[in-house]
Amino acid sequence: MGMEGIWFTELETPGLVLGLKLKKVIHQEKTSYQSLAIVETEVYGKALILDETVQTTLGDEYFYHEMIVHVPLHTHPFPQRILVIGGGDGGSIREVVKYPQVKEAVLVEIDERVVVNALEHLPELSSGLKDPRVKIVFADGISYVAEQEEAFDVIIVDSTDPIGPAAGLFSPEFYRNVFKALAPEGIFVSQTGSPLFAQELLKKIHKELRTIFPITRLYLTTVPTYPGGWWSFTLGSKKHDPLEVNHGQSRVPTRFYTPAIHRGAFNLPPFIKEFLNEG
Ligand code: SAM
Repeated sequence: MGMEGIWFTELETPGLVLGLKLKKVIHQEKTSYQSLAIVETEVYGKALILDETVQTTLGDEYFYHEMIVHVPLHTHPFPQRILVIGGGDGGSIREVVKYPQVKEAVLVEIDERVVVNALEHLPELSSGLKDPRVKIVFADGISYVAEQEEAFDVIIVDSTDPIGPAAGLFSPEFYRNVFKALAPEGIFVSQTGSPLFAQELLKKIHKELRTIFPITRLYLTTVPTYPGGWWSFTLGSKKHDPLEVNHGQSRVPTRFYTPAIHRGAFNLPPFIKEFLNEG
């Protein structure tokens, strides 16, 4: 992997590199789908790296996992059946199982080795995978969703970026299948990349989702170890508007998420509104 001495370097986008000084490499292997490494970094603690791309670090994972999960689970009045696609590190499921009303949480991860290694080396993230309400399916999320009908209240795509096996998780056909797989009050959220470096992708996604969901919204958070340090999520909803969430407090214990941060996350700078509308 891209290590120079004891530095891990990731080419985030042409002309921009993220450098993380390592304390040690905990594990490295080549799976059937990708190269996988678990390292300990000096600044952010343990990190999962797939195909030389930082997926998550213990130092900033909760910025991402809490925003991808608690925004839809606070928008839905009574979320009981949740599907997470990707997310083999377990961070999103750990947040989902905090809700007592959740009856079933299905994780569909294409690469079993990600889950096996997270369970062994990243218990801080993967602990929720042992909750009895969690079912883990090792399969391609694209075909799994195509077979579901009104089966979930919330569907979360916590995937790698749209290349390789994750490419189809950003396609119009997948979005139509997600709509079909959601219950009548269902909500869909996907990580949708950097608002600085993935504008063409965001335009395309929003153009497509507006033709499928009555409510489509972009929201933002900070993730220091992702390209540019700033990240987007796209939410499609059949009925409930995430802007109308008026809880005073979070329904579950959190370190990053609050309902006020939830509402603020949908306030977009004018340049983002402009390029989304162009789409
Ligand atoms: N939070 C991360 C990010 O934004 O970089 C994503 C982390 S999670 C580890 C991403 C997971 O998606 C990987 O483990 C990968 O194996 C999985 N994945 C990619 N394509 C998939 C697909 N088509 N179906 C199911 N899982 C998939």
